Order: sequence, then structure tokens, then C-alpha cells
Amino acid sequence: MFDTHCHIYKTETKNYKDIIKKCLNKNINLIINSVNIKTSKEVIKLSKKYNNVYASIGLNYDEVENINEKDFIKLERLINKNNIIAIGEIGLDYYWTKDNKDKQKYIFEKQLKLAEEYNLPVIIHARNSIQDVYDILKKYNLKGSMHCFQGSLEMAKKFINLGFKIGIDGPITYKNNKKQIELINNLDLKDILVETDSPYLTPEPNRGKKNNPTNLIYIINKIAEIKKETPEKVIEETTKNTKEIFNI
Ligand SMILES: [Zn+2]
Repeated sequence: MFDTHCHIYKTETKNYKDIIKKCLNKNINLIINSVNIKTSKEVIKLSKKYNNVYASIGLNYDEVENINEKDFIKLERLINKNNIIAIGEIGLDYYWTKDNKDKQKYIFEKQLKLAEEYNLPVIIHARNSIQDVYDILKKYNLKGSMHCFQGSLEMAKKFINLGFKIGIDGPITYKNNKKQIELINNLDLKDILVETDSPYLTPEPNRGKKNNPTNLIYIINKIAEIKKETPEKVIEETTKNTKEIFNI
């Protein structure tokens, strides 16, 4: 199985090596996402060392104020010299601030252009920004994942039509998450990816603790329950989707 979105590296998680090894033993593959140049280098290192680690690198909305032109050059150099499977996570986040929308869009599009140039899929973060993200993505010819998708069914279908898969995380296991359950109910398994966003968004029954990708099974089980399928079927389908989108 594949955890298509997590942040298991030194800067984020102290015991990252133990977690990766544990995942290797349990046959859990990881697409580890970076957020800046420093963590991109960490992720690349891990992808070279561990067979179950795949690198997705990018400059993220979080660091907007610090990102400059040199970072794009450094990012491109890393893409050029290493075996990267995607650009991400990248996107727009208006939850924390709307004051720098223009710079966020500039950074986002600059990396979408890189993805097109290098023929790489993208892993997208959209928080309180889904319409803007959609309006930008539809200008490009890209495929990828809508990480931790929080939008409506109608919006999900629009992204699917662009060539994107819908990333489902821990919150699907939370009580009363009717909106997400309804979403899964109406989506085909072929349009879904599973991810943990570790060390964040821990699913039930481990909510409250730090997340790690071995919790992916709780998300898979919940989707199976909603879709009235076996967990094996969910694993089979989402693994197929992952390989297709990320050319693995
Ligand atoms: Zn993330």
C-alpha cells in the first residue's frame, strides 16, 4: 500500500528512521513531501536509502515570505539531478493569511510550470482556496493529487476531470464527518488516494497522538466500510491509482 502524503523526515519527526523501517517491514510505501529546499534534500536522501521511500519536493505556501528566485533555481537543480516522482506539496493556503495571495500564486504557478517542463505530477495543498487553485490548475496540463481534499463533491469531480485524484486522510475516521463520508460514498475507488499527512491528522483510534504511516490502515478500513468493499479491495485500487498518477 501507499501513503501518498507524509512528512517523515528529520526536521519534522525525531524518530523518522525507525518509522520508515517499520513501514518497510509492513510493506507500506511512502511518498514523502517536502516544504522547502532544506527538507527537499532530506527527502531525496531518504529516497536513495530506503526502497519504500519516494521523493516529492516543493516550496510551500508556509514559507512564502522567505522564498526567493534563488530557491526556484535550487529546486530545479534538485529535480534535474535526482529521481523525483512529483512536485509537492505546493498550493495556496488562505487559512493562515490572505495578505500574500499574489506571492502565493506566483510561487505556485512557477512550480506548476516546472512540473510541466519536467513532465512530473503535482501534489496540491488547498486550504480555503479551492476555487483559486482550480482556476490556476485548469490552465495547465498536469495530473496529480488533491492532498487532504476538503471541498464539495462537485469540486472533487472538477478536479477529477482535470486528471487529479482525491487524497483522503485521517479526518474520514472522525465521528460525524458526514461531509467526507458523503463524498466517499459518491466517488469511485478509482478516483481516490489514501494518505496520512503524518505527523499530523492522526486517525481514530489514535487521535491525540502523533501520526505515522502505520495508521494508514484505519483510513483504508473506514473507506472500505463506507464503500461496502473489503480493505484488500481498497488497497488494491488505491495502489493502482498511485502507480498510475506517479508513474511508479
Ligand atoms: Zn502535507
